[in-house]
Amino acid sequence: MKSRVIDPIMRLDGQKWFSRLKVSLFSCFFLVSGVQAHADAGFNQFLRDFWPSAQSFGIKPDVYNRVFVGMKPDDDTLRLMNKQSEFVKPIWEYLDSAVSDTRVSRGKELLVEYRDVLTAIEARYGVDREAVLAIWGMETNYGSFMGKHNVVQALATLAYAAPRRQEFWRKELLKALYIVQGGHVRFEDMEGSWAGAMGHTQFMPTSWNAYSVDFDGDGRRDIWTTIPDALASTAFYLKKHGWETGKTWGYEVALPSNFNYSLADDETTMTLGEWERRGVGRVNGRGFPRASDRAILVLPAGVNGPKFLMLKNFYVIKRYNNATAYALAVGHLSDRIIGGGALVSDWSRDHLPLKRSEVAELQNALNRKGFNVGSADGRIGPATRKGIRAYQVSRGMVPDGYASVVLLARIRQGS
Ligand code: CA
Repeated sequence: MKSRVIDPIMRLDGQKWFSRLKVSLFSCFFLVSGVQAHADAGFNQFLRDFWPSAQSFGIKPDVYNRVFVGMKPDDDTLRLMNKQSEFVKPIWEYLDSAVSDTRVSRGKELLVEYRDVLTAIEARYGVDREAVLAIWGMETNYGSFMGKHNVVQALATLAYAAPRRQEFWRKELLKALYIVQGGHVRFEDMEGSWAGAMGHTQFMPTSWNAYSVDFDGDGRRDIWTTIPDALASTAFYLKKHGWETGKTWGYEVALPSNFNYSLADDETTMTLGEWERRGVGRVNGRGFPRASDRAILVLPAGVNGPKFLMLKNFYVIKRYNNATAYALAVGHLSDRIIGGGALVSDWSRDHLPLKRSEVAELQNALNRKGFNVGSADGRIGPATRKGIRAYQVSRGMVPDGYASVVLLARIRQGS
């Protein structure tokens, strides 16, 4: 153990004295920590090897030593980083928990409690209060679970051991060290998810660096314990990604019986007025406030579930987390917080989404039938959806591009 710890110092002999002194001090700490039981030699070696990158990023040796002395990899992070779920949660189950009655009513309380802060945030960034609250609700249930992992430890674990995206994790780790060095949060309080998302609205360190805001003016951009800072940072993030003030994210709509479903391809963009001329209207029967707003028709669970015209702000929310289910939950929760009702159409809950292995089976079947969907990777992407639509058209089905157990059953029957 000892010789392994000393090795890096020997290798750095050629460097100038000052730098060598710093490295020696640094290594001494690891000499101490290395003697401790159960230290992870590979992890310690990674931390030694990473030091030059941190140093050129401007991290001071005392900060680096203080943070990393005695640190071990995060067990949860090691366990979760390779986990790939076979099951895809149906969007209705996701929404049931994401937009629960409890979360809606808590959001309504916070709308009152933080009225002054939200008014000030709206005035400065032009981002609607209910959207900011909804992201807070979605990310951490309004600060009630922000993650109990030390962010530096989680990111160091990923930079050391993640099977993919090494450069990404290294960059996030450097930014995390930079935050500690700047004194914005105490190292001990720098908590977040196993993958390094931090504070009330779960910023990654690079997002913190680019978009966090010191809204209460105490000199620290503290998204962990200062709620005005966290909410203003979220608003600033949304503004920087193109939020359109005073506009909604989207509308639940109904389609006419003769609707041309090839327009619901996740790409076709038309004004609300143009959609209206094709018979698309709001489920509550009211008109669209601005016919000139541009929108995309999205069918999250195909023809048998609720349908939506999505506006620019829906895609801004997706910049926070690039998943349709997430952005829909944020949008719907924001509506509910300011008094809107539940979705009108029912999800067709027997049209379950496919497991990953079933998606791969579907992809192979479509490829065999000549609908080229590319490699059978078990993931539904644009090529797979396009192939499903083409298959549906060829069989006289409604081409909604939705990969459900019903569709796979039909294909298994040889259709
Ligand atoms: Ca502050």
